Amino acid sequence: MKKIALVFVIAVLLPSLVLAWLAVRSLRDQQFLLERQQSLLCQRVTDALATDIASHLAQAQQEFSAQVEALAADRDPRLIAAQFDEQLRRRWPLAEVGFCVTLSGKILSPSATARDESKFFVTDNSAFLGNRAPAEVYNPANLRQSPQLANSDSLALAPKQKAEFSLASKSVREDATGHLNPSTVNNRNPSSESQNYSKSKSQTRKVSPQNILPDTGKDATEREEINLSKIVPAEAEFAQIVGDNVDGMLARFLQNKLRLMFWHRLQREPDLVFGAQLDLKRVVENLRPLVQADAGLRDEICLALLDDNAKPVIVSRADFHANWKRPFTATEIGEALPHWEIGAYLINPAQFTAAARTAKLTLGLIIALLVLTIGIGGGLIVRSLNAELKLARQKTDFVSNVSHELKTPLTSIRMFSELLAEGRVTESAKQKSYLHIISAEASRLTRLINNVLDFSRLESGEKKYHFQSCDLVEVVRTATEMFRPHLEAGGFKFDCALSETKIPVRGDADALSQIIVNLLSNAEKYSGERKEISVEVSQKQTPLPHAEIKVSDRGLGVPRSSGEKIFEKFYRAHDSLSSGVQGSGLGLTIARQIARAHGGELSYEPREGGGSCFTFRMPISAG
Ligand code: ADP
Repeated sequence: MKKIALVFVIAVLLPSLVLAWLAVRSLRDQQFLLERQQSLLCQRVTDALATDIASHLAQAQQEFSAQVEALAADRDPRLIAAQFDEQLRRRWPLAEVGFCVTLSGKILSPSATARDESKFFVTDNSAFLGNRAPAEVYNPANLRQSPQLANSDSLALAPKQKAEFSLASKSVREDATGHLNPSTVNNRNPSSESQNYSKSKSQTRKVSPQNILPDTGKDATEREEINLSKIVPAEAEFAQIVGDNVDGMLARFLQNKLRLMFWHRLQREPDLVFGAQLDLKRVVENLRPLVQADAGLRDEICLALLDDNAKPVIVSRADFHANWKRPFTATEIGEALPHWEIGAYLINPAQFTAAARTAKLTLGLIIALLVLTIGIGGGLIVRSLNAELKLARQKTDFVSNVSHELKTPLTSIRMFSELLAEGRVTESAKQKSYLHIISAEASRLTRLINNVLDFSRLESGEKKYHFQSCDLVEVVRTATEMFRPHLEAGGFKFDCALSETKIPVRGDADALSQIIVNLLSNAEKYSGERKEISVEVSQKQTPLPHAEIKVSDRGLGVPRSSGEKIFEKFYRAHDSLSSGVQGSGLGLTIARQIARAHGGELSYEPREGGGSCFTFRMPISAG
């Protein structure tokens, strides 16, 4: 038994518990995986949007070039240079100021006296456009392939500028051994000296995307250190930026305000650079339709275009508010809009925790249920094995008990019949007594064999009853009278209180008689010193009219712990060794089965004053 339990624990319970533990462990990563998946998805969205915005600006740049070409189509470029500001603004709403400058640095348009914007523009940009002072610029040269002028000799840099330029390139090359300047690396034509500007310092991003910098206890300064912007300005003069190119775009910060410029050169007049400073508000307005989440993600994320101060300038959901500096994912737009970012914000940030919690709970419950099922199943298996083992043990006992029960009467019968056969017993009283013993032992043998046969028939469902109307009082009387001589010979006081009137029942008289015989046989066997047996047959009216037969004795009684078990097959409350009483453990099992087959019941209760009382109740037949 212990071995089976051990095998069960090692082969079933332990592996199940280990599996359950592994499943619980894998659950802990659930939230992380969900977040990772969503973060990849959002990062793809912001990356794509940043590219879209950059290409939108590249398109605007092309539009500008087309405007310049159209303006100069049938006119001398030098003639339109002076009025370029007014003419461009009239044709192209994105232009805040139009400018025209020669490569040697002479500003032809706008006029510093024309209007306030022109005045400010000239004040802010004359040194830079006039190549007198380098400025920190972001040059998104790699946005699209800007064509180069066929005759690069036409770029006439002043000797002084050329000298500065080569100095700047040298310094970059020296620096590059340690740190590569991303703006140099990103340059469309890195071999061209004209693209190398002196390096500037990289900046910290204004936003800290959660997917890159999770809240792991790092404070803001630590976060800043690892969250560097990929967009780095380079220090250069305007002529350096223009180089051999036909057109281009540049961005710079003036008084902390972003200025975006497009420029274009005509093939006919490469010395003139036509440019425009863009109206940023209008540019942003044009970008508004782009900043929208796909239909599938609209309820999950909000997209925002953040300016260089991490302030939202376009938000895909007007009602949404968040800590704009902590987007879930974010992508920098690039040099076209330096330090501007597209951020994605989770509308319901608790969704991962909630989803992970639900998954955990569901799986936890399933695991608990499985473990419980395994436990209960295991318990049932162990119990049923236990019962089987007990039954096997009882069967072994039964075989030895039955063999013994068969042997004892057979020995008596053989001994007394041999004595009589040898003619050595001459006294007639003795002869009578011997014959009586032989007859009693034969009856005992018959009872035992009947019980064993009946039991096997009942077990296989082959037991047949011959139901017919009979008088229960008569059945009991016949059985008790048959038993009386044997009991009285054994010194028993045997009382029979039978009903005066007939009790009509429907049943098999032989089977009913077997119940009485088995009960009387037990009463005799388990009576011990107090040899008193009584049988009562009566008719009761409550709860329903029924017949009641009581067989009582003043014997050992059934131990309290045995209770109902005495009706189980092979069960013996008094084993042969300790009590010295032989038995098969089948008598009561058969008696109860017969009683139930008649619609009745056989039960036990301790008798007041000591002993046992077995009661058999069965329905009275109407006829
Ligand atoms: P057995 O052949 O052992 O008597 P039974 O099925 O007739 O088998 O009885 C089952 C057990 O019930 C007996 O072993 C005995 O312990 C208990 N028992 C039955 N009748 C009595 C009784 N009248 N008094 C005390 N114990 C009894």
